[in-house]
Amino acid sequence: MEKLERERNLHIRELKRIHNEDNSRFNHHPVLNDRYLLLSLLGKGGFSEVHKGFDLQEQRYVACKIHQLNKEWKDDKKANYIKHALREYNIHKKLEQARIVRLFDVFEIDNNSFCTVLEYCDGNDLDFYLKQNKSIPEKEARSIIVQTVSALRYLNQINPPVIHYDLKPGNILLGTGSVSGEIKITDFGLSKIMDNDSYNPDNGMDLTSQGAGTYWYLPPECFVVGKDPPKISSKVDVWSVGVIFYQCLFGKKPFGHNLSQAAILEENTILKATEVQFPQKPPTTNEAKAFIRRCLKYKKEERPDVLCLAEDDYLKPPAMKGKRQFEDFLPKKSQEA
Ligand code: AMP
Repeated sequence: MEKLERERNLHIRELKRIHNEDNSRFNHHPVLNDRYLLLSLLGKGGFSEVHKGFDLQEQRYVACKIHQLNKEWKDDKKANYIKHALREYNIHKKLEQARIVRLFDVFEIDNNSFCTVLEYCDGNDLDFYLKQNKSIPEKEARSIIVQTVSALRYLNQINPPVIHYDLKPGNILLGTGSVSGEIKITDFGLSKIMDNDSYNPDNGMDLTSQGAGTYWYLPPECFVVGKDPPKISSKVDVWSVGVIFYQCLFGKKPFGHNLSQAAILEENTILKATEVQFPQKPPTTNEAKAFIRRCLKYKKEERPDVLCLAEDDYLKPPAMKGKRQFEDFLPKKSQEA
């Protein structure tokens, strides 16, 4: 039954893809910007479609994300969308790390559409993988988390640091081969730059886009409403890591699993998420559960930030446990000293 269900999911996804490709303006293999030959549609999001393309200049495959503005939109809505997309582009283009999807290029197609050119990632995203396989053995799930945290550490070591803010299985792309082989995170559409104007290291930064993001993966502080806007920090991403790891291990989300986004808001599900419960099965190490509890600390003051999480013993290779990661890079002498 499970095998048939997986085949059915794949088949439905392919039918949708073909339907979307048939309806795409770009299904006749055009060359965009004298450089990118479009080959096939990969997928469709809200206001965009992603095509596999071939970069004729660099001679490599790329993913061309075409952002389509609706002609019916009023000018201010169009302007707002472009502002948002340019912000994403400006954040994303500066990021260069093995665990982050590269953004190579952006160009205008016409008045109502433009294209971002991304590193091409073969393989599925973690969301689809979990749909097909329900859960992932702890060893491999831990490897996905180690790689995700490595990307987050990079985002917090650059200046100014960046909060991803929309970390979820759909934004973690898996390589081909083994599930945990080589993951990359993507979609910086909601990310926040912690620059001097908006960020206070003791306090965090104001939450400007409340209601954005995917509720199952956002921490309680993102749901606090009132006169005093909640302060957010990289601890938002730490919470998301805990939820994603839990979902990989147990095949369900820790809070609001069967609820819609609207129901989560209505029932204050995440504001009530004071304690995480673990199913009996599959058997999971106490270290993994303790790690998840640290990520899902209700009070952000008690939750580690990303740099702290990156030093967590659970994520280190066995020989490194108890040591600080950066000792690796010190010359031998100063280590002895
Ligand atoms: P998005 O609108 O970003 O969710 O992308 C829609 C679909 O396009 C995804 O589900 C993926 O199948 C595909 N996709 C997005 N980015 C890439 C990429 N960099 N490489 C390969 N496929 C991608």
